[in-house]
Amino acid sequence: MTIRVWDYLREYQEESEEILDSVRTVFESGRLVLGESVRGFEEEFAAFHGVDHCVGVDNGTNAVKLGLQALGVGPGDEVITVSNTAAPTIVAIDAVGATPVFVDVDPDTYLMDTDQVAAAVTERTRCLLPVHLYGQCVDTRPLRELAAERDLRVLEDCAQAHGARGRDGLAGTTGDAAAFSFYPTKVLGAYGDGGATTTSHDDVARKLRRLRYYGMEEQYYVVDVPGHNSRLDEVQAEILRRKLGRLDQYVADRRVVARRYEEGLADSGLTLPTTAPGNDHVYYVYVVRHPRREEIMARLRDRGIELNISYPWPVHTMSGFSHLGYPKGSLPVTEELAEQIFSLPMYPSLPRETQDRVITEIRDVLKHL
Ligand SMILES: *Cc1c(COP(=O)(O)O)cnc(C)c1O
Repeated sequence: MTIRVWDYLREYQEESEEILDSVRTVFESGRLVLGESVRGFEEEFAAFHGVDHCVGVDNGTNAVKLGLQALGVGPGDEVITVSNTAAPTIVAIDAVGATPVFVDVDPDTYLMDTDQVAAAVTERTRCLLPVHLYGQCVDTRPLRELAAERDLRVLEDCAQAHGARGRDGLAGTTGDAAAFSFYPTKVLGAYGDGGATTTSHDDVARKLRRLRYYGMEEQYYVVDVPGHNSRLDEVQAEILRRKLGRLDQYVADRRVVARRYEEGLADSGLTLPTTAPGNDHVYYVYVVRHPRREEIMARLRDRGIELNISYPWPVHTMSGFSHLGYPKGSLPVTEELAEQIFSLPMYPSLPRETQDRVITEIRDVLKHL
């Protein structure tokens, strides 16, 4: 049987009663859209982070998009971010009419190289968008300082970093707003699509609530500024609400898996993930690196081990973003990484025996490379 890079079925077996009860709770509540479950989840997710507001939305891409709009980012503005991210980060910037401006990533953590950001600021820069990639936080302190000096906003992309802690605090608490995805594979995953944007600015929260509801104040049928229909689904909210109580456990289980890879693959020849000082990594994905990635992946695939690459094509090299004008070679660290990284099976309920087989097979493949 193929070993999958991500799988939820074992977790579902353990939690199915509660998941199905969530569905029943919503269906029997008498309110199917923006009801008690969304309200309750928003309150509890905000409390988990110690922020004032959480606004549930339909997915992580729109959490970024609405976050940008609520922070006042629009056509003509520039947003400084990275190309080593999931394409939706950039799609969301494009969707509000703003222009993404890329800096390269740190060669050890693969996260935004914050030293490069100041030089990328122009008259048109409006927002800095760090991505807490793979489950580890960008150090937002220099970004906040720069933002204060130049009157910029900071939006954190936390789609891969639920529960992660950086030197500056919990992911999602260090910027002006933060965008989360609850896509099923994420550290806090729904049983379908979901997202949320958090903030402690009252005015930003109010804009977010309007933006996800056509541009209306709820129950008030007037649009002042046209918005979207981007509501978090009530059933997904109820599932997320219950799973939120287990987020710390999911993270602890992911760390156990990571430690076992670390021990099992030490001196194997693979470059293992580096955690920056002061960080609590949540291992959304376990990214390793090797110059002969293609051969390694092919041989492991032959042995029934599925692997993934996050991400094989840096966003600036995609045809849909060629108009941004970043030729090949313009972000050398990002481009080299994209050719060498791959991700090992990682999810909280990954059985120990399965992981041991992955480790044994990798060691064997590397020995005979
Ligand atoms: C998953 C992800 C998104 C998009 O989330 P969706 O819920 O799939 O729309 C955005 N940014 C990053 C970094 C992601 O990993």
